[in-house]
Amino acid sequence: MVQGAFLLVHEGAEMAKRKMRKKDVVRKIALERIYRLFELAEKSFEKHPERSARYVELALKIGKRCNVSVPAELKGKFCKKCGAFLKAGMNSKIRIAKHIVKVTCLNCGYTRKINLIKLQKA
Ligand SMILES: [Zn+2]
Repeated sequence: MVQGAFLLVHEGAEMAKRKMRKKDVVRKIALERIYRLFELAEKSFEKHPERSARYVELALKIGKRCNVSVPAELKGKFCKKCGAFLKAGMNSKIRIAKHIVKVTCLNCGYTRKINLIKLQKA
C-alpha cells in the first residue's frame, strides 16, 4: 500500500515533467513548421504568389495556435496588413535609415518599421 502510494506520487512527478517537455516539443515543431512554410512561400512565390500568401497565413496561424511568435528574421518577409509574402525587389521595397528598416508592401502600401537595435536585444 505504501509502495503503491509512492508509485503514484512518482508517476505524478514524471507526468508533470513530461507535460513540460511536451510543451517545449510543440513549440519547437511549431517553429520548424513556420520556417518550412516561409521556405515554401519563397519557393512558390514566382510562379504562384497567391499560394505563398496562403503559406504565410498558415505559418501565422500555427504561431497563434501554439503561442509561438514569428521569428524576427521572418518579420520583414510578409505584410502584416494584407498577408502577402514579401520578396525584396519583387513586391516589396526596403529602405534602411540609421537603425530602422522600412519594409513597404507594394501590394497594399503598408510600411512596416523594424528596429534593428530592438532586434539584436531580443
Ligand atoms: Zn500588404
